[in-house]
Amino acid sequence: MHDVLVIGDGPAGSQVAYRLAGQGYDVVVLGKKEKPGRQVCCTGIISQACASSFAINESAVLGRVRSARIFSPSGKLISLWRQENQACIVNRSAFDVSMASRAQSKGAQYMPDSPARDITVKDDRVVVEVAHDGGGLKLEARAAVIASGFGTRLVEGLGRIGDFVIGAQAEVETSGIDEVEVYLGQEVAPGFFAWLVPTSPPMALVGLLSRRSPEFYLRKLISSLQAQGKIASDGGSPSYRGIPLEPLARTYGKRLLVVGDAAGQVKPTTGGGIYYGLVCADIAARNLGRALEKDNLSAKSLANYEREWKRKLGRELRICYWGRKLYEHLNDRQIDRIFDIIKTNGIDDALLKADDLSFDWHGKAILRLVGQKVLTRALAAMKIPFKIGTQFS
Ligand SMILES: Cc1cc2nc3c(=O)[nH]c(=O)nc-3n(C[C@H](O)[C@H](O)[C@H](O)COP(=O)(O)OP(=O)(O)OC[C@H]3O[C@@H](n4cnc5c(N)ncnc54)[C@H](O)[C@@H]3O)c2cc1C
Repeated sequence: MHDVLVIGDGPAGSQVAYRLAGQGYDVVVLGKKEKPGRQVCCTGIISQACASSFAINESAVLGRVRSARIFSPSGKLISLWRQENQACIVNRSAFDVSMASRAQSKGAQYMPDSPARDITVKDDRVVVEVAHDGGGLKLEARAAVIASGFGTRLVEGLGRIGDFVIGAQAEVETSGIDEVEVYLGQEVAPGFFAWLVPTSPPMALVGLLSRRSPEFYLRKLISSLQAQGKIASDGGSPSYRGIPLEPLARTYGKRLLVVGDAAGQVKPTTGGGIYYGLVCADIAARNLGRALEKDNLSAKSLANYEREWKRKLGRELRICYWGRKLYEHLNDRQIDRIFDIIKTNGIDDALLKADDLSFDWHGKAILRLVGQKVLTRALAAMKIPFKIGTQFS
């Protein structure tokens, strides 16, 4: 019997495996595809802080970002620029492979092409049914970690993720775009935003998150960027993926932990989940390591994992989800108006100069923004509820 079966070979799963194998446990990682990182629909932007604290392998880094151009629905521009690099763009495939290699170097064993079909929790073990080599096999371990991404059926016994969005993305050739561009507007990406991210010149990723018809809006965006001369190709076949916006109801059970997108550990503002997934993977590995050592893998013993990750991220997730819903309430005219207010009052500069403005933590920036008198007056005039915690319908 193994110590731990990690189900999912994405960044969260590989990070848990790396930490637990590093503590000397016998860890097996199950992957659905023939190799980690195959055809992942992801832009691969992570903060510089994330790259440093998780010692991300440089060979996976395509480029660094210190500025972004944000366009309002009517085309008004706010340029964000900082002296220091703020983020890295990683090649998701190379990144996932490097995370897996690191776990393997500590002794974790990877089983690609072996999707978990079902988990049974018994008194003294978990039994995971795996599709393998055209047949099936049963693997046993003292505990399992579910890290199989958003929408996994394996978490069904632990409740639901309350809200999610679909992301769509395609690779395109750009014409001289060397900065990240972000496009706002309900006619561009309903409820969310779209992006053009240069990766390896002349290539870039164009994508969006949308409450409805992501395929339609992505095609529309590509046509519009072609018409503006920003991109030179039509994007081939786009890929799609769901992104959780709220956490799973419960992220632990007897002999079980859930991490990453499967647990809904994602920034509700941007849908970025790599950093929070890695943070929670470390918390999961620490708690599971302790429980394995004491041989107490009861739900009560593992509940501390959820307490710990919620202490770290819970408030941030709540504020950011609220900020997201507030944004979704705005129509294009109102977004443009807020752009005007931000620019004419220098709020963008003030925010950029704030030491605590962070690529990974958006709660403080949201509170600062809605705390600006000039903005609260405008939101009140628009009849948009702006008091933190207000429920949006
Ligand atoms: C369009 C788009 C753009 C994005 N851009 C960014 C970005 O720029 N920055 C950022 O931080 N986040 C971004 N994200 C989100 C990010 O991709 C996810 O948060 C991140 O991949 C979550 O990692 P994970 O390890 O939890 O899950 P995943 O990366 O989904 O990994 C899960 C793994 O488990 C495997 N698997 C699934 N089912 C099984 C099974 N039954 N058995 C075994 N293995 C299984 C899958 O094949 C996969 O390899 C983006 C998402 C989308 C949709």
